[in-house]
Amino acid sequence: MYAEIIIPLALPKNYTWMIPTSMESDVMIGMRVEVMLGANKRYAGIIKKLSTVKPDGFDPKPIIDILDEEPIVYEHQLKLWEWMAEYYMCSEGEVMQAAIPSHLKISSESIFILQEDASIDIKNLSDSEYIISEALEIKKELSLIEIQKLLNKKSVYPIVNKLIQKGICVVQETMRDKFTIKSEIYITLHPDYREEVALEKLLNTWSRAPKQLDLLLAFLHFQKTEGEVSQKAILAKANASHAQLKALIEKGVLVTEKRKVDRLAVDHTKGDVHFHALTPSQTNALQDIQTKLEIQNVSLLHGITGSGKTQIYVSLINEIIKQGKQALYMLPEIALTAQMIRRLKQYFGGSVAIYHSKFNPNERVEIWNKVKSGEIKIVLGARSALFLPYKNLSLIIIDEEHDPSYKQQEPAPRYQARDTAIYYANQLNAKVVLGSATPSVETFYNAKNKKFGYTYLNERFSQASLPKIELVDTKKQPADSAILTPVLLAAIKKTIENKKQVILFQNRRGYAPYFICETCGWIPHCKHCDVTLTFHKAKNLLSCHYCGTGYPIVNTCEACGKNSFKQKSFGTEQIEEKLTLSLPGVHVARMDYDNVKGKNEHDHLIQQFEQKQIDILVGTQMVVKGLDFENVDLVGIVDADSLLNFNHYRVNERAFQMMEQVSGRAGRKNDHGKVIIQVSQTQHPIVQYVKDHDYFAFYAFEIQNRKHFAYPPFSRLMSILFKHPENNIAEEAALHFFQSLGPTIQKTVLGPAQPNINRVRNKYIWELSIKISKQPQQLKLAKQQLLHFIRLIQVHPRYKSVQIVIDIDPN
Ligand code: ADP
Ligand code: ZN
Ligand code: ZN
Repeated sequence: MYAEIIIPLALPKNYTWMIPTSMESDVMIGMRVEVMLGANKRYAGIIKKLSTVKPDGFDPKPIIDILDEEPIVYEHQLKLWEWMAEYYMCSEGEVMQAAIPSHLKISSESIFILQEDASIDIKNLSDSEYIISEALEIKKELSLIEIQKLLNKKSVYPIVNKLIQKGICVVQETMRDKFTIKSEIYITLHPDYREEVALEKLLNTWSRAPKQLDLLLAFLHFQKTEGEVSQKAILAKANASHAQLKALIEKGVLVTEKRKVDRLAVDHTKGDVHFHALTPSQTNALQDIQTKLEIQNVSLLHGITGSGKTQIYVSLINEIIKQGKQALYMLPEIALTAQMIRRLKQYFGGSVAIYHSKFNPNERVEIWNKVKSGEIKIVLGARSALFLPYKNLSLIIIDEEHDPSYKQQEPAPRYQARDTAIYYANQLNAKVVLGSATPSVETFYNAKNKKFGYTYLNERFSQASLPKIELVDTKKQPADSAILTPVLLAAIKKTIENKKQVILFQNRRGYAPYFICETCGWIPHCKHCDVTLTFHKAKNLLSCHYCGTGYPIVNTCEACGKNSFKQKSFGTEQIEEKLTLSLPGVHVARMDYDNVKGKNEHDHLIQQFEQKQIDILVGTQMVVKGLDFENVDLVGIVDADSLLNFNHYRVNERAFQMMEQVSGRAGRKNDHGKVIIQVSQTQHPIVQYVKDHDYFAFYAFEIQNRKHFAYPPFSRLMSILFKHPENNIAEEAALHFFQSLGPTIQKTVLGPAQPNINRVRNKYIWELSIKISKQPQQLKLAKQQLLHFIRLIQVHPRYKSVQIVIDIDPN
């Protein structure tokens, strides 16, 4: 028998291996097998196809071993991978790499780490497993090669795989994704006292050490009310010391136990199935969506900010799980906040799992298995949640469907998760609900053309109206108050006096986006990228936002030698400083990638803001996404011009979405919401549409532009980047490629040109942007031709070191 096997690499195609007769009865599609590639590279690949027909022209090598007893992925997932690889022009191996958790990937590069609190039961281990466990206990981590040496054999995958399954070690793919498994100490009663009689006797005969008794009583109370008692919690709760606890342990009354903190710990709470009653217009919308979904697989819920879309999703999900099926609720990564998670948990309890890239591999594997078995019914996740092994997925909700972060940029597969979800749902015969207050132009176009169903909800919950918008013309303001105009400052003061909160939005972090020489206009740039440097005052350095390099502050112009610079424009850091100076005593916090690094910090800030410990939150896009605070009366968009001035066909769309979404954070539950937009182009059409909250006018305006220039949705875009450390080689390769295309394709190409940012991490970039017909046959043909010419470049003696990046439907 022969098997086509996907291995996690960017290969031009899948290769075939032979299945030895002795293993034939044990292999199934979707299982992992160990294979050799070349002389000494070993991979755990996934069987995609089985066949009895020997491939032409060569004798496939045999597989070495089988790793699984049952498939780890369903065949429908493999079909999705195949489509993604074809559509996004990458290899199935690259899709596999993105799709499965690292525990399920083993390769020659893998490193195996001792599970911190593994309880190793020798009886349960084979000799080889024992040898490796012992070595792991001493060395803490082993590479695959070390394991091969220890066992004195090449084929060690099955053994390693068993050790992973037994919880003795974990896999780390490369050095970069190191993670730690958190564990915490829990306290329980010693078995001797779990009988009530024994406990009673103990308590009644207690003589000395009253503090210890207090602690014990507190423990018993806590155990009764909370179920589980962690050491940290009980010490805090009982206001007791470690010594007192230790004494109780030494007396054999309490015992400690180290447990992994399992953040997902499928909690078996049922959740409060008591939903909010929907308002009449929400009920109408819900029914409308359900009717639309009877005839169409995809439907758009266009609901203004604060209309209660989440409530509608929850009702839709509830229907699905009542039927015993699975639902996926997708959100942009950053919108996956504790706030959202809390809300869903409140409804659905333990049947919800959260899945995103910040989770450690253990947690990911746990979810993987529970989704596969069907135990987990609802997944709340970012784009990668699409790759879980759903048993019977029948609804996908894509909240904030317009959000650019649904597109993966780097590395391949560069997929658009919304579009991929739509394809997948069609394949599975599942339904998709796209939700947004500001639908993407493509989605709204599809709804208008009846490709998608459409439901409009134009009422805020509790009848609150959308906030009023005031434009402040920055041209007419005193020069020294460009950042905080008197109008904005007065409004902030008034809001805070009323005990309400403020959000200020500025889409640039740092203090000043750049320094400019007052004499000649020279601007300091990154040495590795074609990017101007941003001044960060707190760190006192200039930093490149593309590669992260920091530079000391420049004092002398490199072009003219003069020493006087002025700062141009401003970022969040400077706004924060100005606020602190102008409004002493007011609590200001900043939310951007400089001071909010992880999920926890993000959640923490949101919580502080919710609890009103912060009066003004200044932030970048991070403050925009889907947050629901009821006490925010004022939103300020500090520099709207910066949203309108850049060179991209989506600039209008993004600017509208950003301003409308951030405005939507104001006055969500009352009529006092107000938005102040500081802008010099007050007559800009987009600014006017935002002022009127008029999505439809915006769309009518924008779709004309798109049609006129044949931009999506009237074509598909494809970008091909040529990257090389030498500018002329990158340029020539791009040109050579362009010239090899036929005249018909050439007509649809923009470029070769240098993109706005033409050097990143020391590589020069030349770009070809191609508009392709949306007609599937033509699209396929065009891709085939392009791929052919790309292959030629890749073997061309002069250009073969040029890195070529293909991006379909780029952002
Ligand atoms: P959207 O996602 O459309 O912007 P949300 O779903 O966040 O709006 O709803 C806005 C606010 O109104 C939330 O605080 C939500 O809990 C509340 N809300 C919406 N619908 C209802 C309802 N039917 N009953 C009670 N509260 C509701
Ligand atoms: Zn100068
Ligand atoms: Zn740089």
